[in-house]
Amino acid sequence: MAEYFYSKNKQKGAEQPLFHRVMAKSMKIAFEKAENLKPLVPEEKLGFGKVFTDHMFVMDYEEGKGWHNARIIPFGYISLHPASTVLHYGAEIFEGLKAYRRADGGVQLFRPMENIRRMNRSAERMSLPEIDEELGMQILTEFVKTEQRWVPKSFGTSLYLRPFMFGNDESLGVHAVHRATFMLIASPSGSYYAEGINPVKIMIEKEDVRTVRGGTGYAKCGGNYAASTRAGERAAKKGYSQVLWLDGVERKYIEEVGAMNVMFKIGDEIVTPMLTGSILPGITRMSCIEVLKSKGYKVSERLLSVDELLGALKDGSLKEAWGCGTAAVVSPIGKLAFGEEEYEVGGGKIGEVTQELYDTLTGMQWGKTEDTFGWITRVC
Ligand SMILES: *Cc1c(COP(=O)(O)O)cnc(C)c1O
Repeated sequence: MAEYFYSKNKQKGAEQPLFHRVMAKSMKIAFEKAENLKPLVPEEKLGFGKVFTDHMFVMDYEEGKGWHNARIIPFGYISLHPASTVLHYGAEIFEGLKAYRRADGGVQLFRPMENIRRMNRSAERMSLPEIDEELGMQILTEFVKTEQRWVPKSFGTSLYLRPFMFGNDESLGVHAVHRATFMLIASPSGSYYAEGINPVKIMIEKEDVRTVRGGTGYAKCGGNYAASTRAGERAAKKGYSQVLWLDGVERKYIEEVGAMNVMFKIGDEIVTPMLTGSILPGITRMSCIEVLKSKGYKVSERLLSVDELLGALKDGSLKEAWGCGTAAVVSPIGKLAFGEEEYEVGGGKIGEVTQELYDTLTGMQWGKTEDTFGWITRVC
């Protein structure tokens, strides 16, 4: 087992590293089989995130000792010390990806290394320990193999994987964590578009902001969600399914839509907000950009002001708008509201580019079309 030391404090001139980490590239994962396996839920009855598989993965971290005690154990409650860091200071990060069933019965993941790398960037931001990339892949693949009977078969359904990590010091002192827990749970989920792809109504949010530059916007952390729920609830009351976030400093530039990245087709240009630090770098976003460029579209990652967007709505040059993320793949936007005004986008229907992206990405993910990008990792 190869081990090496990794200094967290990369700042020049720092006298002492904050603490050292031991990063194992692979580990023996202990397995305690659940006594009674649960009955599978019929595929047409699957929702999202309510049903969980038979097992869960858990691994502990301690300063000086590194990650240890990797285990797959029966799914169940966990117990925490009431002073546990996560309960007071919100030291929590997570990821979301899916295991897809191929027509030939195999199971595969879509760009899983990108999730592992992003989780490490989130960890770095939140002063949580990182996980070696190879170990991350080992955990994902061994766990999915163990739970493979839970990967549903119909197109659009998947086994949603939720890796997460939290600080777990048993002390109220405010400092970088010395103890952490990493877990992976899985939930079979139904097709996001069981009722067909219907464009959604979105409201531009003028009051709340999700994050600011220099903050935690680029990290996938629970706190970002806690802070954005209120705006989502207010929008829902008015009949909108998501909010369109503006930047937290000038409240002028478009950032994201709900918990998805956002893209617009303005004339012949596909525009998506550039990653300024307050935007979550979505893997679907990155994949959409690469697919679009490979098909010859002009794609710009740049600042897009709300004024420019409203201008494009009024003069008819805004042809399509969609959100993109792992859950929905793409979600077409049919209506956009700003203050009292409501505008229709693309005739309220899914646009050509949106549809093309949906077909290309889902084709690869469910193994229906050839993976020409090298994005698929077969698990079994
Ligand atoms: C996870 C997430 C996304 C989408 O990322 P994907 O990797 O494409 O699933 C976008 N915005 C926020 C805030 C997110 O948490």
